[in-house]
Amino acid sequence: MACTHWLFGDQLGPAFLSRLAGVPRDAPVVIIESRAVFRRRRFHRAKAHLVLSAMRHRAAELGDRVTYVRANTYREGLRRAVGDRPVTVHHPTSRAALALVRSLDGVTVLPARGFIVRHEDFAAWARGQRGLRMETFYRHVRRDHDLLMEEGRPVGGTWNLDHENREPPPREARTLGAAAPFQPREDSIDEDVRRDLDRWERAGDVAFVGRDGPRLFPADRREALSALRRFLRHRLAGFGAYEDAMLGGDTTLSHSLLSSSLNLGLLDPVECVEGAVAVWRAGEAPLNSVEGFVRQIAGWREYVWQLYWYFGEDYRASNAFGHTGSLPDWWNELDAEAVSAQCLATVMRQVRDTGWTHHIPRLMVLGSYALQRGWDPAAVTDWFHRCFVDGYDWVMLPNVVGMSQYADGGRMTTKPYTSGGAYIDRMSDFCRPCPYRPDRRVGDDACPFTAGYWSFLHRHRGSLEHNARMTRAVHGLDRLQDLRALLDQEEQRERSADPP
Ligand code: SF4
Repeated sequence: MACTHWLFGDQLGPAFLSRLAGVPRDAPVVIIESRAVFRRRRFHRAKAHLVLSAMRHRAAELGDRVTYVRANTYREGLRRAVGDRPVTVHHPTSRAALALVRSLDGVTVLPARGFIVRHEDFAAWARGQRGLRMETFYRHVRRDHDLLMEEGRPVGGTWNLDHENREPPPREARTLGAAAPFQPREDSIDEDVRRDLDRWERAGDVAFVGRDGPRLFPADRREALSALRRFLRHRLAGFGAYEDAMLGGDTTLSHSLLSSSLNLGLLDPVECVEGAVAVWRAGEAPLNSVEGFVRQIAGWREYVWQLYWYFGEDYRASNAFGHTGSLPDWWNELDAEAVSAQCLATVMRQVRDTGWTHHIPRLMVLGSYALQRGWDPAAVTDWFHRCFVDGYDWVMLPNVVGMSQYADGGRMTTKPYTSGGAYIDRMSDFCRPCPYRPDRRVGDDACPFTAGYWSFLHRHRGSLEHNARMTRAVHGLDRLQDLRALLDQEEQRERSADPP
């Protein structure tokens, strides 16, 4: 009889149970629901719901082939399910889980699945680089996997169409008018999950943050494929131009909302990018939209996954700016109603209600605010990990420590991503109803992002003025007549820990 194969809760698609991946067709399967995972951290309730729902849906699909164990820990669950019989498992997605499976007798770790590039191929590529840059890696993946290529050259003659994909939202528009994204229908498995979560919470066993409304994201392969098809047919064409835009009344715009399905293993990145390329070849979506989507999946997602392993465990403690501030209660509680700043309130409300917001509110509203206020990057990373339905250690560590908080001092990106209110005003409709003004840096109506931006530049002037991409911005400080008043104002704001 074949060896039992262990599936983690983010290894739920067919790619993790294929003979090509080293798992025989008749291999028994074990899935373990570990309560310790939820006890350790205060996750968003919608995320806990989605992960448990997806695990239980996979178990229902596999029927008699699977042993589904509810245990306190993975170790205990595995012992109960298989005793000392040998087990295989695909390379887990976190360092903690990898250390665990390696520490268990009789567990053979098979190569990672769910990504386009193998670890060894990335390492070989990285060896030939002077600095690791996403753009160079992305071009390498495009060439290597023949994505949007013609006769060895990028289709359309250019690799990067970002300049076409930074449009502000259409003037006066309240919504983009895109077709609605796929909406799953909850079933009896979701009802059971909700009942269990209520019970665990009532018993004081676990605590969650955020709301668990109707499930918005796919929990099984069938739903994930429907979501992918709907995006490719109805939403991809309008994705590119407005991928960085933000609208208070249309928070999903034309985004794919596929990240949670990819990160649960329900979708394979290759089928997503090849599907998008096929839509372009059929003339049903413009190149900028398709390239923008391929860049997110085959570029950013792969790059982040690889860097998580490549940079090593010490990367977690990176703190180039020496930021030690703690996250205030209103932030931890996702208390959107307490916030007056409309950008933050809108985005916080969306995170509270859904566990998701797209990459620009994450980077240029939430992450930017945390960076400007000098919060501990490890605490910010943990918050993103817990509060987003698609958040996992491998996703959030490089994205937050490297990209959003620049805590690695530039190993991942060439400059800190933060801005004053002018950027948010240009890219959204948040500022019009806001009590603050994006062009005011001092006074009762001073925009916390505009004032926070200058305060951040001032605090780190010594290191930032040596960064070629920041020099001009830093020298802008010298033109500010009201800098002293601004710094006093921001110091007071930070001391109060009240929401802006
Ligand atoms: Fe945000 Fe400032 Fe605009 Fe208000 S004025 S929405 S705080 S950027």
